[in-house]
Amino acid sequence: MKLAVVGAGLLGKLLAVQLSRFHQVDLYEQTSLKADKSAGYIAAAMLAPTAESVISSELVVELGCHSMTLWPEILKKLPHAVFYQQTGSLILAHNQDRGDLHSFSQRLKAKNFEFVTSRQITDLEPEIAGRFHQGLYLPTEGQLDNRALYIALNQQIMASQVEVFANTHVEIDGNTLTASGAKIDYDWIFDCRGIGAKPQIKSLRGVRGEVARVYAPQVNLTRPVRLMHPRYPIYIAPKPNNQYVIGATEIESESDKPVTVRSALELLSAAYSVHTGFAEAEILELESGLRPSLPDNEPKVYLEGNTIRLNGLYRHGYLLAPAIVEQALTLFNQANQLSHSYFTHVVELNRNVVKELNVLEAII
Ligand SMILES: Cc1cc2nc3c(=O)[nH]c(=O)nc-3n(C[C@H](O)[C@H](O)[C@H](O)COP(=O)(O)OP(=O)(O)OC[C@H]3O[C@@H](n4cnc5c(N)ncnc54)[C@H](O)[C@@H]3O)c2cc1C
Repeated sequence: MKLAVVGAGLLGKLLAVQLSRFHQVDLYEQTSLKADKSAGYIAAAMLAPTAESVISSELVVELGCHSMTLWPEILKKLPHAVFYQQTGSLILAHNQDRGDLHSFSQRLKAKNFEFVTSRQITDLEPEIAGRFHQGLYLPTEGQLDNRALYIALNQQIMASQVEVFANTHVEIDGNTLTASGAKIDYDWIFDCRGIGAKPQIKSLRGVRGEVARVYAPQVNLTRPVRLMHPRYPIYIAPKPNNQYVIGATEIESESDKPVTVRSALELLSAAYSVHTGFAEAEILELESGLRPSLPDNEPKVYLEGNTIRLNGLYRHGYLLAPAIVEQALTLFNQANQLSHSYFTHVVELNRNVVKELNVLEAII
């Protein structure tokens, strides 16, 4: 079978690796294989099924919890270690935002959280001792190092049977793919283009997010920390080597312009209000990206002709990707069996027709 995966962002890389265990796969990406413009490259890669339950459906929470069980298995098979941690997260509020913390706790659909006092916060994160008098601890949450994940997946792709077509913009029409002006037929196409699939998925929209990546040698936070904020929840996600991703704005806009001064000021001052050590941090990146989102902000995996579309991961790409890839593989196997049995049925039908014709000929 000839298979194509289009888009080498978060979903495309994960899927190409899985498919390549059993099939020859062509992987197309409009930028380089690094995919440093993809949402998955810019993301903070928090795995937050509990905190996100405030704004998500039960389906997202369920798929997110399932993905949390799949990530360790996926990471184990990679050529080098990727930082992954599941030691919970903290939600904090300054005194003036106490009410927001309380209302946030009431809106959590997932109930595995506990209120923590100033002393418990100090036990969990000694460097912010005394700064906060109330918070929530979400023990099952985690995060991973998405940059290291991309590198490890790329290595695995290069070492496998996957043929990579980088810097190749692709259009998909039925089971024909047009790449650099050439039309190529595939048995199955997996559309993992994120927001790039908008020409085909009309209801898809981009939700702008901005993040800062900093190097903060004076900060040693050990788990993701969210801060109640009047406009959007701001989080600080620790990465290896004292790097932190501070994010993220959420703006209903498809602008891919650089980060605005207002957003940068809000993100960085919120981080400073959590830990003064951020004052001396070096800003490594200020990035903006578009989260591919469907009207209900839920992910979808579906079949259209011979194309399997995976999209709508919104702000939950890392939280959901393993479960979504699993669903796509199940759909692919089912569709294959179906088309195989349909094919056998047609062959069988023809054989009977041929047999009957032979009988007729014999009678005549
Ligand atoms: C600021 C920000 C913070 C985030 N933080 C988190 C977080 O903490 N936790 C979490 O779970 N999720 C987070 N997300 C969401 C997550 O990043 C996305 O949901 C996820 O990356 C979507 O994966 P994808 O593979 O569908 O799209 P992408 O990762 O965007 O990949 C799509 C790829 O397809 C390529 N492509 C597009 N069109 C074409 C074409 N025509 N031809 C060839 N190639 C094409 C693109 O170049 C890109 O490489 C965040 C997102 C943003 C923007």
